[in-house]
This record gives sequence, C-alpha cells and structure tokens, in this order.
Amino acid sequence: MTTATRPVPGTSGPASPYQSYVYAYPHKTAYRKLPDRPRLDALWAAEPKDALSLYLHIPFCEVRCGFCNLFTRIGAPDGLTGAYLDALERQASAVREALGEREPVRFATAAFGGGTPTFLTAAELERLCDIAEHRMGADLRAVPLSVEASPATATADRLGVLAARGTTRLSLGVQSFDDTEARAAVRPQRRADVEAALARVRDAGIPVLNIDLIYGIDGQTERSWLRSLDAALAWHPEELYLYPLYIRPLTGLGRRAGGTDPAWDAQRLRLYRLGRDHLLAHGYEQQSMRMFRRTDAPPQGADDYACQTDGMIGLGCGARSYTAALHYSFDYAVGMHEIRGIIDDYVSRPAADFAHAEYGRRIDADEARRRHLLQSLLQAEGLRTDDYRARFDGRTPADDFGAELSRFAARGWLAGDGTDSTLLRLTPEGLAHSDAIGPELFSPAVRAAMAAYERK
Ligand code: SF4
Repeated sequence: MTTATRPVPGTSGPASPYQSYVYAYPHKTAYRKLPDRPRLDALWAAEPKDALSLYLHIPFCEVRCGFCNLFTRIGAPDGLTGAYLDALERQASAVREALGEREPVRFATAAFGGGTPTFLTAAELERLCDIAEHRMGADLRAVPLSVEASPATATADRLGVLAARGTTRLSLGVQSFDDTEARAAVRPQRRADVEAALARVRDAGIPVLNIDLIYGIDGQTERSWLRSLDAALAWHPEELYLYPLYIRPLTGLGRRAGGTDPAWDAQRLRLYRLGRDHLLAHGYEQQSMRMFRRTDAPPQGADDYACQTDGMIGLGCGARSYTAALHYSFDYAVGMHEIRGIIDDYVSRPAADFAHAEYGRRIDADEARRRHLLQSLLQAEGLRTDDYRARFDGRTPADDFGAELSRFAARGWLAGDGTDSTLLRLTPEGLAHSDAIGPELFSPAVRAAMAAYERK
C-alpha cells in the first residue's frame, strides 16, 4: 500500500492526496455574517500598520474556466466595470480613513487579483493603480506588485500601464499549451495566442513572469504534460505554479463530478512527480507543492505566502482582510447568479457601508497557531520551532499539535518524528500530499462551519 492509498485515521476509505487546496485558513466557507457589523476603525486601532499587504480584487473574466471556484463573473454589462471602480474608490476612502492618521500606514506589498484584473481596459487599470496609490497611500513603484492576467487580456497597452506603474510580477494563467487539453478544462484557447501573450509580457519588461499550469486534465498524458512544461520553460519564467486539477461543486466541470476516483488521484500524483522532477532538473527550486522558482530569479519578496500573514487590507467584493483577531470579507458564492447579485450589491453601496466588516471569522489563539503551522509547514523550507515559540508564548508545535505531527511522521510525510526538531519540514512525499495535510489541520470548529455552509 502506498501513502497515496493509506486510510486517514478516523475516516473510512483511502486518503486521497487531493482533499483541498489550503491557500488561506480559515476558508471563506467558514465565515459567517457578523451580527455586530464591527467598525473597521475599532478593528484596526491596535494593529501594527507599518508593513501591511494590499490586495485589490477584480471579479471579472472573459470566460469561466471549468475548474474555477473563485469569486468572479463572466463579462460585464456596459458600465459595470466603471461602477465597480467607483465602489472600489469609495471603499478605499472609507478603509483608509478607518486606518487612521495617528501612526504611519505603510504597505509593504500589493497585488491585483481576481478574476482577471486585466479584464479592465488600460485606462481602467490606470485608475486601479490611482486608487491603490492616492486613496490607500501605497507606493506601488517602491514595493513588490503582483498582477494576474489571462493570455487574451494581456494586451500590450494594458501591460504597458502595469509595467509603468511598478508591476514586478505578472502571473499568466496558461493552464495548458495543448489546445485539446485547454478545451477539456473548459478554458478554450489556442497555443499560438498563448505564445503571443507570453511574448508581450516579456516585451513589457516586468521582472518576474509566473506561468500557471494544470495537471490531471482529461486526456492529458505524461508526454503531453512534459510538452506543456517544456513550452513554458522555453520562456524561462522566473516562477511556475503547477496546480492539480480539482473538480469542485457548482463549477463548469463540477456538474459532471461524481465521488472519489483513485485512478485520477494516481494520475495526478504521477504527473506531479514528473513535473516536479522536470523542473528541479531545469534549474528550479521547489517552494511548495505548487510553486517553483528559478534559482537565479530576482528576489521577489511578496508571494502567496506573504498574503497569508496578518495585516492584510483587501478591497473589492471578493477580497479578504485580516487583522490578528478577525478575518473578514463580503458574502461568498460560486454560482454565477449569486455572484452577480453580490457584485451588484457591492457597486450600489454608499461609502458609509464600507466602514464596517460584514462577514468573517474570529481568530482565537488556537486558530492563530493552526494558521501559522499550516502556512509554514506547507512551504518547502518548513517551520522553525524558534519562530513558533517566540510567537506563541514559548509553546512548541509538538505541544499544540503532537498527535497530528506524529501521524504525519508515521506516514513518512515529515522529516524526523515531528517532536524533537528545531525545524519541521515535509519530506518530498509530504509535499506531494500537502492537499491532504492542510485539511487535517483544520480545527473542529472550522471543519463544522465549512460542512454547514450552504453552497450557492
Ligand atoms: S481560473 Fe482565472 S481566468 Fe479562469 S475563471 Fe477563474 S479567475 Fe477567471
């Protein structure tokens, strides 16, 4: 029996390595309406504000990829993107006011995500940058600024604006260089268009190019996966993200979903290992299960790991904000009809509405420790127990999560036995099983809230 099929204690059946992608903890499905609608100025009063992260969310895409459960809608009727930016500006003003003037407010990183930020026109992207700079006070040219784009919307005029305004990292959602696979993932695109977009990104001179690829697509073979990887490597991207395909409820592919599929799990694990080894052999180092960075790439500073630290200001109707004690956002949905309703509600809000947190989850000491463990352990460099001790009153991960760590060690996922080390680090097999490890560290309360969440 391989680790891929070993049962998880307390559950029946084999443990799929693909439980869920834990990119933020707790997940938004554990958020609930906050009955007291706390005021942002009170929430942020005692928070450190000298190294905040800023995230602006643009919830529009030209198509809805079959695997995507992000908060985004297809297209925008006339005037909606302008109205959305108006609302973003109102929100930015209200949030900036709530942060106060008593102490300096400084943003250490910035990111535009989505959706597809480059769904906006070049002029609208200028406005987006103005909101970040003039309303929020972020110095975009002085900090790492990461922007997501799709091949079709990565046009020269938009990239020109982004480069001129200080973008340091452009992440292109390619998914596959194979036209048939792209269609199978419900992301129809032609390879020639993808290559042309990559050329435009390189011409724009943005220092870091990231390419997203997906494995586990229907019909994908080891050979076709290697072809996609080589096509990406030909652009010498500073970063590559390799994502396992997930089929999630209410997504385009999810309508065809049905139960567990050990053969698909095995295919994804095989392609993962192949992709990992291929990149390691081509001058990349592994940062996490998904992320690979060229060893000679310029230092970037901000990545998805940084986005999960405390002190995040998210603007836009799908963005999260984090204080040490509360994670909050607006309502969440995956279904297209509900998403449209939430965006319409967002654009119609008066400025005063943005001075409150509406949906969220309180983070107590236990959740803070879990979050720290999760976001550190799932990185290839691991968790330094000294950092944990310094942050959590002298306690160690083994004091708080001994049972879980012993379990991971027994499965061969953790270097050492998980109790005595100054560094907790996943083995290569542990990294391969990151999407099983993450959900096992969820608290019972978060697990229950996620299970009780009604999908819409
Ligand atoms: S994967 Fe990206 S481009 Fe595709 S629908 Fe989701 S947010 Fe839009």
